[in-house]
Amino acid sequence: MPLPDPALVVLVGASGSGKSTWASRHYRAAEIVSSDQLRGVVGSGEHDLDASTDAFALLEQVVAARLGRRLTTVVDTLGTDAPRRRRWLAAARGAGLPGVAVVLDTPAGVCRSRNAARDRPVPARALERQLASVAATTDLLAGEGWDAVLVLTPDDLPTYLPTAGPRNTPSRRRSGTVATDGTSPPPGVLREGGGGLRGVVLHLSRFPAEVDLLEWLRDMAAAAEAAGLAGIALMDHLIQIPQVGRAWDPVPEPWVALGALAASTTRLRLGTLVTPVTFRAPGITAKAGATLSALTGGRAFVGVGAGWWEREHAAYGLGFPTPRERLDALEQGIETMKALWSPGTKPYAGQRVSLPETTSYPRPVGELPVIVGGGGDRTLRVAARLGDGCNVPSDEVGLAKVARYLALVAEAGRDPSTVHATVLDLPLVGRDRDDVWSRVERHRGRTAAASFAARHHAGTPDEHTRRLAGLAGRGVTTAFVAPVGLDGPDDVLALAPLATAFG
Ligand code: GDP
Ligand code: MG
Repeated sequence: MPLPDPALVVLVGASGSGKSTWASRHYRAAEIVSSDQLRGVVGSGEHDLDASTDAFALLEQVVAARLGRRLTTVVDTLGTDAPRRRRWLAAARGAGLPGVAVVLDTPAGVCRSRNAARDRPVPARALERQLASVAATTDLLAGEGWDAVLVLTPDDLPTYLPTAGPRNTPSRRRSGTVATDGTSPPPGVLREGGGGLRGVVLHLSRFPAEVDLLEWLRDMAAAAEAAGLAGIALMDHLIQIPQVGRAWDPVPEPWVALGALAASTTRLRLGTLVTPVTFRAPGITAKAGATLSALTGGRAFVGVGAGWWEREHAAYGLGFPTPRERLDALEQGIETMKALWSPGTKPYAGQRVSLPETTSYPRPVGELPVIVGGGGDRTLRVAARLGDGCNVPSDEVGLAKVARYLALVAEAGRDPSTVHATVLDLPLVGRDRDDVWSRVERHRGRTAAASFAARHHAGTPDEHTRRLAGLAGRGVTTAFVAPVGLDGPDDVLALAPLATAFG
């Protein structure tokens, strides 16, 4: 059972019941506040009972400070002091964090024998008192308002044995190195024919300076294929956007770069997320998309949007019309592309666009989906009527837009199961809990750690897999994933477990 995170986690159990062992299996050392450890800090050692008052004063201070920052806090004490538990739970609530009590319900005999084996055992009578008050506490917890009470019996405990694979062992890294024998297609890839785009697509928005760009792109593509991802999307901007990097960071022209990727991939879907209609005449984007489709045997997609960043338009001598005109251009652009890709070369006279002929070769191979980026209501309506998919953020607001988009698709008389409801997800992915939090520290800038972690769903690959599977349950067909701090192929390989989220 995955516990809420961030959260207050209060352990309850007698000496030797396995509290500290359980905590260190599941949490980073800095997240655990232990009265024994603090006795060792302010007293002569972990069992210096004379230091208890000072140790608990410090413990209360650490708990309050961490909860105030909305950071996960695991309180490792006997857990039998009801007023303290109430105070901690109130502090968690005040910070908006859930509170969970975890009872180590280890048989008395096991606690006794573990205690006896210790260098400095708790006196036998004291242990009996502890066992009695743990039993009494367990009965009280249900009435104290905890968000969850988890009672771990010895059946649960063996899975937490030190030999069961502590962090950072090679077995934990296995997820990052996927066999590439090519015998069976990885999940989420080429299940459907044509331009199907279901699964997790790597979104590249940051490109390294001072490396061989072609080699870097090839390495990233090889890693994405090995990880079983469904495709690669390239950002289409003329100057690096402030949300991602510095203006002088390199941003390759995506259609040229996609041509290079086409030469070194055999399974990945390739396209842009998203091409502003203000950058290129739509017929030219239609030509690029169809060419990429031909080069890849039908693995291309075209992301389009209205464009939003005035600065890059000014710098490159492009017009930047009003929002209404840009949305008009988006509608016309999609209609133009679809006209040029449809069979035949006859004249086209549509609602917004007329073309004297539609002579456009090569034709796309199979479906060439148009994914419309943006969450404004008119954009969603354009996506539903004219496009083949939408792209919105993966947060709650975005998910509401996915629902709206699917309703609009149905309203337009189209089958919602044939469109691509896609989200852009910016996860922070770490190998394990320690790696996750060191990445949070590295990348959070001046944002509070807890807010940054929440915004990017900071977690392990397994946690992201579960979360993305939840998105699939809400109508999302494709997650474009742009991991925070993505630098090289190893970070792409770490996404392998996520590839299964939509399968
Ligand atoms: P605490 O006093 O409740 O913090 O208990 P500890 O976590 O310090 O555990 C007491 C002893 O029991 C240590 O020697 C642990 O290695 C051992 N221990 C803890 N959990 C388990 C378990 O699940 N299985 C076994 N076999 N030993 C455990
Ligand atoms: Mg302990």
